[in-house]
Amino acid sequence: MKVLVCGGAGYIGSHMVAHLLENNHEVVILDNLQSGHKSSVLGQKLYVGDLRDSEFLDKVFTENKIDAVIDFAANSLVGESVTNPLKYFDNNIHSVVKLLGAMNKHGVKYIVFSSTAATYGEPESTPIQEEDRTFPTNPYGESKLAVEKILKWCDKAYGIKYTALRYFNACGAHVNGQIGEDHNPETHLIPIILQAASGVREKIMIFGDDYNTKDGSCIRDYVHVSDLASAHLLALKRLQNGGDSRIFNLGNGKGFSVKEVVEVARKVTGINIKAEVAERRAGDPAILIASSDKAINELGWEPKFNSLETIIETAWKWHSAHPNGYNE
Ligand code: UDP
Repeated sequence: MKVLVCGGAGYIGSHMVAHLLENNHEVVILDNLQSGHKSSVLGQKLYVGDLRDSEFLDKVFTENKIDAVIDFAANSLVGESVTNPLKYFDNNIHSVVKLLGAMNKHGVKYIVFSSTAATYGEPESTPIQEEDRTFPTNPYGESKLAVEKILKWCDKAYGIKYTALRYFNACGAHVNGQIGEDHNPETHLIPIILQAASGVREKIMIFGDDYNTKDGSCIRDYVHVSDLASAHLLALKRLQNGGDSRIFNLGNGKGFSVKEVVEVARKVTGINIKAEVAERRAGDPAILIASSDKAINELGWEPKFNSLETIIETAWKWHSAHPNGYNE
């Protein structure tokens, strides 16, 4: 099938593109390159432009017979979303409204949408199930939850079938070492730890060690980016086979504390990565762990990278070869 990957030059999007190609599908990539990297999708059909531009979207859908859409195009910095919520509501919600409009106009009936664990906010219980309360604690999570609701109404009105995938902590890199994580600024734990390992930064700051967890640091569920990609393709196939619109969590169901992640990274890299305890970061829940039983049972998802060591090995392969990311 021919899949339009919006945000396909970004971190998760570029791994999705690779996965689609590995499975003999055709891809058309749309990215405004605000945070994406052209070189992550070299040789592929890339339209550079913004989803909020209706004429541009019309051109992409007219020039290509698209069978389905996977949408990763969004701003995703939690802290920035708190200080600049309108940027998030405009880019993350308005863009999907335009995209759904173009899909409806051009008769495209399937979309897989990149959602987030941030839709839950502070969890009521662990592991988090899809039916649990959604009460985002930041505009980023709010924007993704709003889109999930918009998708529901567009399914009813236009018959556009959707799957929303709520990711926990995306990490790792393609096993081929050619694509990986490169954000500017980088805020995510594993790339920051590996930048400290490769000497790009001096040390890593552990944001708080006074949480109510086993060692006081926050616990997260780390899921490999290629496993996320495989779940998207399964979700798309399920929709094409007549599956109804649904929401799934994607995580490994296992939590690691920040201190444990640093320890595993020291072991994998063989480098004594310097770490220092700092103040808590605003808005961080103590523990976020997914129940992914629904994705495993209903999508037939089989995450391959379910050990943190392997995940960090793949990330280290990318970071050690590309210490400055794509801009070498
Ligand atoms: N974290 C940290 N130091 C850093 C970056 C992150 O201690 O330099 C912690 C952060 O407080 C959280 C965990 O690592 O508990 C994962 O953060 P990340 O930003 O990677 O993902 P998030 O959980 O915010 O989606």
